Amino acid sequence: MCKKLPYCARYIDSCIMSVISEINADSQYRTLASCCGHGKYATTIVVRDTLHNQNFEWFSKLMIPLRYANDKIRRRFYIKDTHGYYFLPNISIPCVVRKTRREAI
Ligand SMILES: [Zn+2]
Ligand SMILES: [Zn+2]
Repeated sequence: MCKKLPYCARYIDSCIMSVISEINADSQYRTLASCCGHGKYATTIVVRDTLHNQNFEWFSKLMIPLRYANDKIRRRFYIKDTHGYYFLPNISIPCVVRKTRREAI
């Protein structure tokens, strides 16, 4: 995982860039938002399934409703926690910080 940027929800985290391009290489899918979790949350990628007209989280395959309860179209997916880390409500589960590959070598 990479260092959290001040506006991480607006950009693709560098450590998941390759996964994002792989998903977008398939014309059925289009990534809408993502965050690697920066060691605090599980990595999540919000993906649009253009074939079935629905949004879901790539790793958990959990569906994300297209609209809010008040029928407004959902354009923002992440919520910022008190420390400035973004997470997907009802989806992100705080994950155990994994050791980096560098430490293992
Ligand atoms: Zn990262
Ligand atoms: Zn991020």
